[in-house]
Order: sequence, then C-alpha cells, then structure tokens
Amino acid sequence: MSNEVVYLNGQFVAPDQAQVSVFDRGFLFADSVYEVIPYYRGVGFRLQQHLDRLAYSLRAVRIEAVEDWAAILDELVQRNGGGNLSVYLQVSRGSAGYRTHTYDDSMQPTVFACTSPIRDIYGEGAEQISGYNVIVTADLRWHRCDIKSTGLLPNILVLQQAREAGADEALLVRDGLLSEGTSSNLYLVRQGVIYTPKRSSEILGGTTRELILELAAEEGIPYQEVDIRPEELATADEVWVSSSTRGVMPVLTIDGEPVADGQKGPLWQRMFALFTRFQHRLMTGEAQ
Ligand code: PLP
Repeated sequence: MSNEVVYLNGQFVAPDQAQVSVFDRGFLFADSVYEVIPYYRGVGFRLQQHLDRLAYSLRAVRIEAVEDWAAILDELVQRNGGGNLSVYLQVSRGSAGYRTHTYDDSMQPTVFACTSPIRDIYGEGAEQISGYNVIVTADLRWHRCDIKSTGLLPNILVLQQAREAGADEALLVRDGLLSEGTSSNLYLVRQGVIYTPKRSSEILGGTTRELILELAAEEGIPYQEVDIRPEELATADEVWVSSSTRGVMPVLTIDGEPVADGQKGPLWQRMFALFTRFQHRLMTGEAQ
C-alpha cells in the first residue's frame, strides 16, 4: 500500500483530490525545493538531518514555510500503511494567480508530500546488491547544487543519457573535477582510504554522505574530503555512490571499464555492514 493518500496544504487526500494552481511557481519555474526521505518499518531514516537540509534549502531560496514536518510525514507514512516507503516532500513558493518572475511575501507556499515503496536494502544483505555501472559526463547544472531544488532538468537529461547507454548513474565533471552523481554523492577508495569531493556549492550535502563519514570516523576508517579528477577513477581500488533510497552502492564499471577487478570491494562490504548495524540501532532507538 502506498500513495493511497497524499498530503497537500494541510489535508491528507486521495491523489486525484489534490489540486495545485497552474500558476504555482513550482510548476512554472521550478521555484521549489524538496526532500526524499526513506522510512523503514515506518521509522524515518535520518529524518532530522533531512529536515535540517530542508530548512537550509528553504532559507537559501527565501521561501518561508514552517510546519511540523515530522508530524506530517509520520502521519502520511502511517496512513499509507507504514513499512518501507520513500517520502517525497516538496515546498514551492506558491502562486500569485498569474505568471510573474518576481515574487513577494504575500504568497502562500504549496506543501506537497507523497510516498512510494522502497527496498529495505540493509534488511536484505550485501549479496543482494548488484552494484552500479556508471558513465562519466559533463556537469551541466547551476552553481548552487547545495540547494535541493526541483530544477532537475540537467540531472534528468544526463541520467537519461546514462540509461540509454545501459548505465545506472552518471558521474559529473565540472572544470576538470568530479562533483557527484545526478542523484548521488561520490567516493573513491585507494589503499584503505575513502576520498570524496569536499562540500561546496557544487554538490549536494548528502545525508548518506554525512552518515558514511560519521561511521568511518567512529570505526577509525580514514577519509579525506578532496578534489578528485576523473583520471583518478581508472586506478581506484573501489568507487561508490550514495543516496538515501539506494544507500551506499558499489560501482562496478565506469564507461564500460571495470573498477579494479569489477567486484564489490572489501571496504564497501564493511561500510554496508556498518549501515546495516546503524539501521538496526536506529530501529531500536539507540542511534539518531
Ligand atoms: N547529490 C544529488 C544531486 C542528489 O540529488 C542526491 C539525492 O537525491 C544526493 C546527492 C544524495 O543525497 P542523500 O544522501 O541525502 O539522499
């Protein structure tokens, strides 16, 4: 059961009862921000971190919307049967009742949320993860990728290019440096050290990225936040990507060439196990 009920501006309704103005700025201009939050067995995974990033995005684009987000999303998940669901939450600047580039404070933000089913990959085990094939291509996006904006056209075009090449994700290059994937952060492993591009306005501060670095720090696994050139991928021991709904995912081939021996690497196996343990701690209330 999922998406039987969506949330729109204070109401829990059936999807066909949810109506948004054609002048909504989210529709006309992608003047809106969003979050995607996994719930496992009805419990939000890093919910607070997602809500902190939502607050950051809203502040950055100057949309004023304050709600009891956790209460809304928890109720939406319960109404859709609990279980393993991905929650999509979007806040747009609202509508002026006509199309205009400029905005003022009189507009009421439009708040929309819905759910869709997800796999509980940490509940399944590492052997179930098939790994990713990726391509490397140009980063066509704007320079505020730290804002989780719904303006995703460059991401969509590049992901489509990847899919048509038989790949699962595209790694993006700007000014001779790797930034991230179209909807994931990027890691390279060499001699037991995790390398990942440093946080900047060129990448999204991923909640899964933050957790990987937290778990690495707890376990004494060295990591460095550094510039990474695409040429470095060819000699990496392991490459991973991460996102909330896919967790930490091993990359097995890049542009058709295997990463090292083309198998899931040992440090990935370890990180996956740490995620599984973390999820268990989260479920039992031992971790946040
Ligand atoms: N980078 C981009 C561009 C994304 O769209 C996403 C998630 O959708 C991520 C990174 C990963 O972020 P998170 O781990 O919070 O899902």
